[in-house]
Amino acid sequence: MRLSELETNQKGVIVKVIGHGGFRKRIIEMGFIKGETVEVLLNAPLNDPIKYKILGYEISLRRKEAGMIEIVSEQEAQEQVLKSAADYHGAMEEETMYAGANDLKRMALGKRRTINVALVGNPNSGKTSLFNLASGAHEHVGNYSGVTVSAKEGYFNFEGYHFRIVDLPGTYSLSAYTPEEMYVRRHIIEQNPDIIINVVDTSNLERNLFLTTQLIDMNVRMVVALNMYDELEESGNTLDYHLLSKLLGVPMIPTVCKKSRGIPELFHIIINIYEGADYVDAQGNIKPEIAKEIQDWHHKHVDESKHYEHIEDYTYLDKPHQVVYRHIHINHGPDLERAISEIKNEISLNDSIRYKYSTRYLAIKLLERDAEVERWVSELPNVEAIIKKREKATKRIADTMNEDSESAITNAKYGFISGALRETLVTNQLDKKTITESIDALVTHRLLGFPVFFLFMFLMFECTFIVGEYPMEGIEWLVRVLGKWISYTMSEGPLKDLLVDGIIGGVGGVIVFLPNILILYFFISIMEDSGYMARAAFIMDKVMHKMGLHGKSFIPLLMGFGCNVPAIMASRTIENHKSRLITMLVNPLMSCSARLPIYLLLVGAFFPKNGSFILLTIYATGILLAVLMAHLFSKILVKGDDIPFVMELPPYRMPTGKAIFRHTWQKGVQYLRKMGGIIMLASVVIWFLGYYPNHNDYETLPQQQENSYIGRVGKAIEPVLRPLGFDWKLDIGLLTGMGAKELVVSSLGVLYANDAETDAVSLAERIPITPLVAFCYMLFSLIYFPCIASFVAIKHESGSWKWAVFTAVYTTLLAWVVSFSVYQIGRCFV
Ligand code: GDP
Ligand code: MG
Repeated sequence: MRLSELETNQKGVIVKVIGHGGFRKRIIEMGFIKGETVEVLLNAPLNDPIKYKILGYEISLRRKEAGMIEIVSEQEAQEQVLKSAADYHGAMEEETMYAGANDLKRMALGKRRTINVALVGNPNSGKTSLFNLASGAHEHVGNYSGVTVSAKEGYFNFEGYHFRIVDLPGTYSLSAYTPEEMYVRRHIIEQNPDIIINVVDTSNLERNLFLTTQLIDMNVRMVVALNMYDELEESGNTLDYHLLSKLLGVPMIPTVCKKSRGIPELFHIIINIYEGADYVDAQGNIKPEIAKEIQDWHHKHVDESKHYEHIEDYTYLDKPHQVVYRHIHINHGPDLERAISEIKNEISLNDSIRYKYSTRYLAIKLLERDAEVERWVSELPNVEAIIKKREKATKRIADTMNEDSESAITNAKYGFISGALRETLVTNQLDKKTITESIDALVTHRLLGFPVFFLFMFLMFECTFIVGEYPMEGIEWLVRVLGKWISYTMSEGPLKDLLVDGIIGGVGGVIVFLPNILILYFFISIMEDSGYMARAAFIMDKVMHKMGLHGKSFIPLLMGFGCNVPAIMASRTIENHKSRLITMLVNPLMSCSARLPIYLLLVGAFFPKNGSFILLTIYATGILLAVLMAHLFSKILVKGDDIPFVMELPPYRMPTGKAIFRHTWQKGVQYLRKMGGIIMLASVVIWFLGYYPNHNDYETLPQQQENSYIGRVGKAIEPVLRPLGFDWKLDIGLLTGMGAKELVVSSLGVLYANDAETDAVSLAERIPITPLVAFCYMLFSLIYFPCIASFVAIKHESGSWKWAVFTAVYTTLLAWVVSFSVYQIGRCFV
């Protein structure tokens, strides 16, 4: 019976929790574990929720949630004991006929030994063959009312378990279009089979896996039977099905129903999952008591002499060789994912629906305008808000992607599948290739892929900096004019200085980079929308893995050369937590364009002959350090397995002007918004520290600077930076650079202002340092504290101040060590 049927003060023992993964996980984490005793504290017929006591705690569950928990009640156990006593022993003494706690537990665990499985798959994938093989002759055909389709049901015993198996009608998809599809879907949601066997025709993986991705959306427990594996082998193609399992988070077992190959292994793995082999923590560890149970069962029921060693389960070790089980989200690309999470968040406001459906699944189906799901959702109190969000999202998608959201979702799923197969399936067929496949053959080619890629990159950066130059000059001019205008119109005083030197100077210095950034984004949007970016990530994957990163880390790192802030934000697309974090942490080592003015100033002054070589050295140092640090972090700092995930290969499409504009604009606005606030604030603070105290008491500007707050701080930290060859003025430059690196040059300009000849002599000539110190200063500027905006961006994206502070500390220490070494060693030679 179900837990919801238990009345106040009655007790029961839990048999199992039914339903989709998210729900089951939550309930199990509350303590509703098989074999545990649960007592009803209060269950009034009209009361929702119901109060329970389990493991000594009081917990409330909704009636519907409790309805998903199967139990054995004391009463049931008592009846059973009396019955068996009457059957076997005739008359017995009263006291032994009472069902004790142990009987209850034994019965619950006995009941648990029944596993309900359902066969889901495309027509002609071999479901019925598998069904017949497994169940033998014990079958009966069930015809459910209202639909013309039917399902066969069979029973059999295997390795100590009783299986109830249902052969569902064949479907290509799980939409609400055909009666078969509706039927299968309802069966999954209403009958809640314990495990779904997704039967796949391995000789036609691309089409068959489409259904698999929909089952993953539903977050059901399943295994994939890679049926017709013989046909795959005969064709000469090979499939790395272990890797494919890991990519999809679902165990896959090759089967050949004609020769009954792989069937025992299939059901063997099903028992493993059923008993909780899929209930693992983030490190892939299973609870020890579950591992023990599985091992005991294995000992008792499986002839280990003729049993093969399977890598997915916990039979031999506490941790399997390969962690397979996990619930993945099929990545539908940024536009769709944004829409999905908006709708999902709105649906999730209703706790009452989450017991039955995965909210992500509902959101995806709503975007597809699935009529049946619309009906389910129509019962929710906030249905209007949900539908409104859906309408807005579908309109936006139609606008930017130039297709309706249903086909966008289908395309994204096929992109996911071809990415997964690209890594796992090797075909030797010389079929006619589609256009996508021919382009892919070139751009993801082992060798040719790279030159093509670097050509694109080169074009992108050339345009970013060369074309960007023109609007940049325009903006610089505007900023200057605005500053002058205020200078003339306002009366003297701190307020004017604040406006001109603080706000316009600081913010203006950043806005100047907006054209470059927009152009960079423009190119990135084209590459993303056309589908090329996915291929770039694909070919960089191997290289990036060597650094402990992922192919998808490449783009954020690349963007770092423009500005670290949007680059850090771009690391969001990396699913793997570890790679995402490391990508963020090393991103500031990519020399952003704000640091360029510092290099240009110093290189021009101190290295007039070999300027580009020095510039290249600086950039290369940043990249090298990023590689080293990423490697180091992935080894010692950030825990977590390198769980592989699918690199989607969506179909190529012509990017629309509207979409490109929108995406570029979105990113530009993000940049401006984040920058606007933080840079403005930092500029004001730095201005304040440099202006006060006693601004008007000094004769010359350098004197004033020296005695300002920032001057005092600069002097205070001078001893720390002395071993690097920096004087206090250079230190102040670095201090102001913490706000934004653009500010370094402007502060140096102010500090090294030499009264009269200021205008006559260029700044570079006024800085009295050696080329070695200049070089160290550039190195330090490259490596130390990433500006405040990046600092905040890291906090924002990593979700904790801890990583932002860590980045600030490690970069500054690293900067000191590197500059110190270069300066001290360099001094011996020059
Ligand atoms: P269903 O539509 O999914 O129920 O598929 P069936 O079980 O009716 O099988 C369709 C066809 O595929 C039948 O002719 C089977 O004999 C054949 N078949 C099933 N499994 C295999 C297999 O593993 N290898 C090969 N070569 N053929 C198979
Ligand atoms: Mg069939």
